[in-house]
Amino acid sequence: MNQHTSVLIVGAGPVGLALAGDLGWRGVSCTLIEQTDGRIEQPKMDLVGVRTMEFCRRWDIVDWVRDAPYPGDYPQDCVWVTDLNGFELGRERFAARAFEACPPQSPQKRERVPQDMFDPILRRFATSFDCLALHYQTALVAFEDGPDHVRATLRDTRTGTSRVVTADYLIGTDGGASMVREGLGIGMGGNPALTYTTNVLFRCADFPSLHRMGKAYRFIFIGPEGTWLTIVAVNGGDRFRMSIVGTPDKVNHSEADIRAALTRAMGRDFDYEVLSVMRWVRRELVADRYGAGRVFIAGDAAHLMSPTGALGMNTGIQDAVDLGWKLDAVLRGWGGAELLRSYESERRPVALRNVAASTENLGRMLSTRDRKPPPEVFAQGPEADAVRAAYGAWFTETMRHEWFMNGFHLGYRYDDSPIVWPDGTPAPPLERSTYTQTARPGARAPHVVLRDGRSTLDLFGRGFTLLRLGRDAPSGDGIVQAAMQAGVPLQVVALDWPEVREAYQRVLVLVRPDGHVAWRADAEPLDARAVMDTVRGARTIAREGRSHLEAAS
Ligand SMILES: Cc1cc2nc3c(=O)[nH]c(=O)nc-3n(C[C@H](O)[C@H](O)[C@H](O)COP(=O)(O)OP(=O)(O)OC[C@H]3O[C@@H](n4cnc5c(N)ncnc54)[C@H](O)[C@@H]3O)c2cc1C
Repeated sequence: MNQHTSVLIVGAGPVGLALAGDLGWRGVSCTLIEQTDGRIEQPKMDLVGVRTMEFCRRWDIVDWVRDAPYPGDYPQDCVWVTDLNGFELGRERFAARAFEACPPQSPQKRERVPQDMFDPILRRFATSFDCLALHYQTALVAFEDGPDHVRATLRDTRTGTSRVVTADYLIGTDGGASMVREGLGIGMGGNPALTYTTNVLFRCADFPSLHRMGKAYRFIFIGPEGTWLTIVAVNGGDRFRMSIVGTPDKVNHSEADIRAALTRAMGRDFDYEVLSVMRWVRRELVADRYGAGRVFIAGDAAHLMSPTGALGMNTGIQDAVDLGWKLDAVLRGWGGAELLRSYESERRPVALRNVAASTENLGRMLSTRDRKPPPEVFAQGPEADAVRAAYGAWFTETMRHEWFMNGFHLGYRYDDSPIVWPDGTPAPPLERSTYTQTARPGARAPHVVLRDGRSTLDLFGRGFTLLRLGRDAPSGDGIVQAAMQAGVPLQVVALDWPEVREAYQRVLVLVRPDGHVAWRADAEPLDARAVMDTVRGARTIAREGRSHLEAAS
């Protein structure tokens, strides 16, 4: 291991791996350490969201995700039942991953690829760059932030030997119990215990043939007490994860509880093998700050949310992408003093929104505990059928908020970022289930299919991109000159296609290295240098200045 590294990343979960990969892709030398040997006993995440897939597209690893061994023809339905051999209350049908279409706003679609398949893909990507060193069984035990570098003490978890390394920046992607966050003295706000939940990974090769609900991704079990259990198809084959959802009261489900739950879920005894048990606390927490000095946190170290909505890792990978280009810019000297500070301004509001939405989804799944199913739901006969259908239809409608969340997965924006130049237009409402593309500064730059089959997203590279849309678009020379003077990497892309102009609504649009719009206008800026200095973090627009600018635009 080198004595000095530009970026020391602590924790090789999906977020640390994604950050290492993004930095490697940008040619930044970094060291990634992980205290374990990298084996995943029980995969947590399994839904790679559509925005994460857009990042995979830019990293050119979409094929690797597509080829992950989760079967392409395994149906992705979510079904609510009394038990697997009892009554079906309703279902939301979803195509198997090989047949799901991309949403109209993206060249990609979400993918069902569980963590024990996705982490190795991210690892393969990250380690494909010579500038990355990855060390397993290496734990961070202490660190000290100084004016020029961070000193970190690492311990080899096999031998117990310690060594000190230095880094220009240290990033804690070390999960919910982050020692980096603790070391910085950063607290977390929110609700520390929504439920005490027990996850049980079990193997059962004939599972689908033991019941009459058919193959599906997720089963939600509703008893007289309301929702009490879920089972998901972890690998689309012989492995399943049962979650005894629990309550905010601390419980320690015993082995007998686990076996009783599996029997109740199936409606009878059946053969299975318990592979692992994970007792965990579902939380709604966001760190008060995202870093200090040369040390930052990302992923679960910065925010913890209920998995209801599949936003956890996906929010963390967005953090990694936001941080990746900013670290690159600062290390190469063109990023200004405010650039890394803007990481918290941009990402913390997204986390606050996402943790709240995830808890709301949990509330919806558990709303059957307040609105308990009437006894007819569990009875035979035409009258009971009618009551069951009505109750099931209500729950189906309720759960749609969780199944359709592109307003979160794609629609997050950096409206109030100090490094985004406002254009004076009012912020469109933040959406939940739906997502309307906008090129307003701070938003994800819209996807439009180009005539050669590519996406506009494919135009954005490692640096800034200035789009000139239409034959009459101004040259953009002011921006180009300002970028050259500040050493900012910038490419100009001219397109004369009305559909792109329509989506972007302006003729000059400056897109950042993370694919968000930084500035747009129909004319050359009056002060191109001020724009460039703002978007590279060399000056910021304070809140008062922002209103003034908006008024003047
Ligand atoms: C049941 C369940 C289902 C979920 N489903 C989804 C989903 O479908 N989609 C989604 O987006 N999210 C989902 N999530 C959330 C998702 O799993 C987490 O948000 C994600 O794993 C966080 O990744 P991370 O890299 O930030 O942290 P972690 O995955 O916790 O990784 C942190 C790593 O840091 C290492 N580490 C800790 N301390 C040190 C140290 N001192 N030195 C070195 N290494 C250290 C740890 O060993 C660990 O490997 C789910 C969560 C659960 C519980």
